[in-house]
Amino acid sequence: MEVPADTDRAYSDNLLLSQWEYEQRHVYLYSWPRCLGLVLGNACNIDCIHCYQAKTGDNLLRPPKIAEELRRELMAFYPHLSTLRIQGGEVFAIRGFRELIDDVAPLARRPILSISTNGTLIDEEWAERLVRTPFSSVTVSIDGGTRATYNRLRKGADLDQVLGNIDRVQSWKARLGSERPYLDSFFVVMRSNFREIPHYLELMQRHGMIGVALQTMQLSPENIARTPTLEADESIADRGEVEDLHAMLRDVLPRFRRVFHTVRVSGLQTLFETHGLSTAFLEEGEKSLYPDSEGLSEGAFALCPNPWTTLFLVENGDARLCFHSQPIGNLYAEPLAALWNSPQAIAQRSDMAAGRYHASGCSPQYCGWREGKSGPCRNGDAGGQEWRGPAGTEPCRQAELETRGVLALVRRLVSEERRERSELEVHKRSLESLLEGGRRHIDHLEAKAREIEAEFGKYRRPWLVRAAHKASQVLRTFR
Ligand code: SF4
Repeated sequence: MEVPADTDRAYSDNLLLSQWEYEQRHVYLYSWPRCLGLVLGNACNIDCIHCYQAKTGDNLLRPPKIAEELRRELMAFYPHLSTLRIQGGEVFAIRGFRELIDDVAPLARRPILSISTNGTLIDEEWAERLVRTPFSSVTVSIDGGTRATYNRLRKGADLDQVLGNIDRVQSWKARLGSERPYLDSFFVVMRSNFREIPHYLELMQRHGMIGVALQTMQLSPENIARTPTLEADESIADRGEVEDLHAMLRDVLPRFRRVFHTVRVSGLQTLFETHGLSTAFLEEGEKSLYPDSEGLSEGAFALCPNPWTTLFLVENGDARLCFHSQPIGNLYAEPLAALWNSPQAIAQRSDMAAGRYHASGCSPQYCGWREGKSGPCRNGDAGGQEWRGPAGTEPCRQAELETRGVLALVRRLVSEERRERSELEVHKRSLESLLEGGRRHIDHLEAKAREIEAEFGKYRRPWLVRAAHKASQVLRTFR
């Protein structure tokens, strides 16, 4: 099928609008997400001890009748995306994955497909397809620098076999002269594997990875239920171990930043700050897990960009604005386009712009260090360019009337009014909740004052009262 010629225009217009809305701190967005993340299901062919997912068999692509309709809704997003990020479970083990990726080519000329995989099922046919499509990137999860550690943590997988599959993709890239897909790797940092990080980084370099990400382990009710000793066995909390990890990363990160295109970390800033250790070298504010945030900041993000760029749909239908934040609705309850500006989504952006990350539903483990930090609005300076689309800044109305027509002008004014109303509604709710909090605090202080008064009354000695009475009588006789 021929790709419609205007898809690139839709994409570049959306990028500009997204940039402008982020700069303006708008919380009701007319731009589409740049990154759509799909956690298709939790079915997997291996059994990692630290896997945070529930093994419920939930699958966004089942039953097929619903999947067909959902795929149609998803297709509306593709022309605007920089990345369609798909993961599981294990994507290659999930039925419906092939059909889903077939939908993309007719709607996006750019390579937008990106997957996260355990790498065990990349056979010759898939390796060729990943390169021929081409996929934009493939992230392989590898949590060890040695075969013994990797095979123990990722039960059912074998490090040598996975490295062989990575090499298979690299050979197809060489054979077809393609630089895509870019290959990178994801490492979950645990007690039993962190000392292997230097070796892991060397291994990834040898196998042609262009980037790595290190993230602390997530404890969930599911992985704790499966392995009750997981926290004690694998969570890094002991002061000595935290210091060892800190010293090692201070040594290796700067070195490997010269080797890899990207070295991202997540969760380490909170861990080190808790122990009073330095964190600037991590560059977590600049290089954490912010998919498709290009053009939004020149350094550390004063405001986390994810809720302005990303929509994640997970296997039970929950929608999130970031992998690590609370749901903002569910796709079985509302259409996808409505979820992007659901009341919870607007409130989440609004809280974050005010620095209230905890209240917004962000993860204390991964982003606790952001709490209380609010970035200033850069008022219209969107990289030197200004959005002039249907919901844009205030262009000359007369000129717009002449070039675009009355209907377009009316629609723009109505859409602006709708945005303003939604944003005012959120500000009103936020002020009401502040007022309510203030009232509760005053009630609390008044109750406290009454308690103190009552307590003080108990200690007023009767003799003191009598003495005061006597003194007043004596004073009266002198008058
Ligand atoms: S949890 Fe919140 S602050 Fe952290 S990356 Fe996600 S959206 Fe950003």
